[in-house]
Amino acid sequence: MDPELHVPDQRPYDADSPLAHLMEIVAAAVDEVPEEVERDAAETTAAHLVFDAYPYTLGQVVDPDTWQGYPAVRRFEAAAVAPLGGGLWLHHTLRISEADGASALLTLITPCTCGRGYTGIVLDTEEVLIEMLAEIRPTYGRSLHDSSLPDCHSVQAPPALGGGTRGGRSIG
Ligand SMILES: [Zn+2]
Repeated sequence: MDPELHVPDQRPYDADSPLAHLMEIVAAAVDEVPEEVERDAAETTAAHLVFDAYPYTLGQVVDPDTWQGYPAVRRFEAAAVAPLGGGLWLHHTLRISEADGASALLTLITPCTCGRGYTGIVLDTEEVLIEMLAEIRPTYGRSLHDSSLPDCHSVQAPPALGGGTRGGRSIG
């Protein structure tokens, strides 16, 4: 026989009892951070990283205001994206691990020369970025399609900004 649950109709403790205060503390602790706060923080974090770690490249050309933040969604941390033109994007988020805590994860997203997908290039240093840019310069910012790797489909199209919707997908 299942045990019966007895949930009181009314709060059985006073509003100023220790338990009432504990419940308030817990409610505040588990409440989700407001989306606007998460968005702003994501934008600020990304802008700071770019200024600090990419002073000769991204720090020169990416205006802090161009970062658009997105709140955390389920297992994804809050993120920010910045369009670079030509269909290229920067994507910044935090990588959380038990060993290292939170660390910045900056990715350059480039359209593939095959026209069907994007390639995500994780940037560890400004030197890596410069190497990557040099590599895709002859193709005007397109990453070369590698048919041995299905990686150009692994990155979804970056979110459209300004309410614009992206054209039809041409997966085929
Ligand atoms: Zn491709």
